[in-house]
Amino acid sequence: MDTTNRRILTGDRPTGRLHLGHYVGSLRHRVRLQDEYECYFIIADLHMLTTKNSPEDISHIADNARGMVLDYLAAGIDPAKSTIFLQSAVHETYELALLFGNLVTVPRLVRVPSIKEMARAAMIDVETIPFGLLGYPVLQAADILLPRAHLVPVGKDNQAHVEVTREIARRFNSLYGEVFPIPDDLVEGETLPGTDGQAKMSKSIGNAIFLSDDAQTVIKKVHSMYTDPNRIRADIPGTVEGNPVFTYLDQFDPDGATVAELKARYRAGTVGDVAVKERLAGVLNAFLDPMRERAAHYSAQSGYVDEVIYQGTLRYRTIAAETLYEVKKAMGLTGTFNRIARKAEERAKKLAKTAAAGGA
Ligand code: ATP
Ligand code: MG
Repeated sequence: MDTTNRRILTGDRPTGRLHLGHYVGSLRHRVRLQDEYECYFIIADLHMLTTKNSPEDISHIADNARGMVLDYLAAGIDPAKSTIFLQSAVHETYELALLFGNLVTVPRLVRVPSIKEMARAAMIDVETIPFGLLGYPVLQAADILLPRAHLVPVGKDNQAHVEVTREIARRFNSLYGEVFPIPDDLVEGETLPGTDGQAKMSKSIGNAIFLSDDAQTVIKKVHSMYTDPNRIRADIPGTVEGNPVFTYLDQFDPDGATVAELKARYRAGTVGDVAVKERLAGVLNAFLDPMRERAAHYSAQSGYVDEVIYQGTLRYRTIAAETLYEVKKAMGLTGTFNRIARKAEERAKKLAKTAAAGGA
């Protein structure tokens, strides 16, 4: 399919630095997709407010955004190809979300499974859920439809939100005319396990290796990794399945033959955990080295990351304004105020004329 001029919208909440899980689950796909699509990467700080909105939380947004964007650039996202923007700096997002709120029912939103999970994770009682958290998929619909995106790469838990987006887009188009394409979601397959063997690497669990970790930290984390708990000595046959050390080797070691051999020796009890971990630490450090170099290169240019976010946001505002104009025109909202303005201006002119005539 010719994907020229087809748009992608995806992004992250600025909650901290990115880790290997983010790389496997989303970043590496974005790096590839930016050559095929017009990509828009949203720093979704308004979404962060649905569960964390104290002045203290808000004060961390700028630094978190900088760290995250530095990780994007380190991973190979190219600001000359892709637009990275700050959600809260685009007022059209708030406006569109408000308009979309009328196109979806409360019971429909209550049925979205991830909302209850998010509430639980943030220790919010579902009975007293904030309007904004319930409206998370509506805000996301505004994010996706503002650039009129065709494709939305998402994690599995966000798939249900894109379904809500499609329903809102269809409802809008049928009520007011075809403004929005109906976006497809692109589910980003694999979930990388944590260093502790839990199913998902996550910074909130504390089982993550960050793209910004230095070589010594990686070595330390790898050597304390969970392996096969039944293997108390190196000469006991070990289990490879579900062993995160091997999952990481499968994912990051470019030398598949060596990994296969290590697995065979591990199963036979002829290689120790330490030797396998040494291999993995080397592999991960070799994988992260080019990212560290890029990160150091960009960090050395003071203000560069801020400029990327700033320029991206300015560029995005133009697109956002175009869509919102189309939306309001389709809904007849621009006409309402224009008619009122015309009358008011006529009146003002008439009064000015009368005053001028009276004064003469
Ligand atoms: P964390 O879970 O580390 O606190 P987060 O909450 O910012 O990070 P999520 O909202 O869980 O991240 O996910 C953001 C994106 O990154 C999603 O696209 C998700 O699929 C991807 N992602 C996060 N962790 C992993 C992982 N361990 N494996 C694969 N993909 C992941
Ligand atoms: Mg998470």
